Amino acid sequence: MSTQIVFSEEFSKHNNRGHPENAERLNVMIEEIKKTPFYNDIEFIKPELLPENLLYEIHSERMIEQIKEMSTEYEAWVDMDTYVCNSDFETARLAAGGLLKASINVLKGKVDNAFALVRPPGHHATKNRSMGFCLFNNAAIAANELTKQGKKILIFDFDVHHGNGTQDIFYDRNDVMYQSFHLSPHYPGTGDTNETGIGKGEGFTVNIPVSHGNGDNAISKTIDEVFLPIAKQFKPELIIFSSGYDSHHLDPLGGLRLTSHFYREIISKFQEIQPKIVCTLEGGYNLDWIGKCLVSQLGQMIGKEVDFKDQSTEEENVNEVIKEIKNEMSRYWKI
Ligand SMILES: [Zn+2]
Repeated sequence: MSTQIVFSEEFSKHNNRGHPENAERLNVMIEEIKKTPFYNDIEFIKPELLPENLLYEIHSERMIEQIKEMSTEYEAWVDMDTYVCNSDFETARLAAGGLLKASINVLKGKVDNAFALVRPPGHHATKNRSMGFCLFNNAAIAANELTKQGKKILIFDFDVHHGNGTQDIFYDRNDVMYQSFHLSPHYPGTGDTNETGIGKGEGFTVNIPVSHGNGDNAISKTIDEVFLPIAKQFKPELIIFSSGYDSHHLDPLGGLRLTSHFYREIISKFQEIQPKIVCTLEGGYNLDWIGKCLVSQLGQMIGKEVDFKDQSTEEENVNEVIKEIKNEMSRYWKI
């Protein structure tokens, strides 16, 4: 297996030390990768700046202009959660351009799979609004670009938060499927089972909100019984994983109880339906664990398993919500 990682020191320009989404996140991840037996097998590549015009295909002019203007300041805030640093108009486009480059490389078969270790994250950014630590929607920009080649893309989001932005952007489309499990109730408050898409997009948004305390067994059930059977029928030509490690049991902003091993499991399950996968970093704020979660996932992508001592107890409680989502989805898919 060959794996690329997209990384640049430039991402540390987007930084606020007092904020959980800070530059230290990527530093600890890189340090953890350096300790693995597969460090030398990875091909590190630099991101490319996303051309400005591609932003306009996903986001409103007003939103783009706002970020552009704010990034001439020393530091600005879009809302209470979301900061913009000087030169972020470039840094955020580098993040989106990095994922796009990785996605093209995987799709063309230049490399088996790839991970875009990019910041700022993207999945909360809607068509019209930067929010939830996210400026532009990296996954959406990449997926949209690939659909121009007639490709069907699945975005699987395992961040603890619902990717309201990604859902919003593709809500009326059938060429990009959005699947997410997420903690509920929790920020940003969207992602109910009955949010299934509109128009052509009906049935192409699949949400499973789960309650506090659910962990590996519960999420495994949602994947085996709902996400995978639907994904199999959708037949994606590439899978983008919105990879958020705030679903880990020790995350300060979370509430689910996934262990680091489970990120390997997720990849392994989806590899059976489509081995062309590319991952993009979203959340994850426990600096002692996000690197280990990442490395566990990378191990599966590279084909060299890495194991950490990591255990968690869970309150498995998903039978009701699985029944609910099957009921919704049975209108569109065999489930
Ligand atoms: Zn998150």
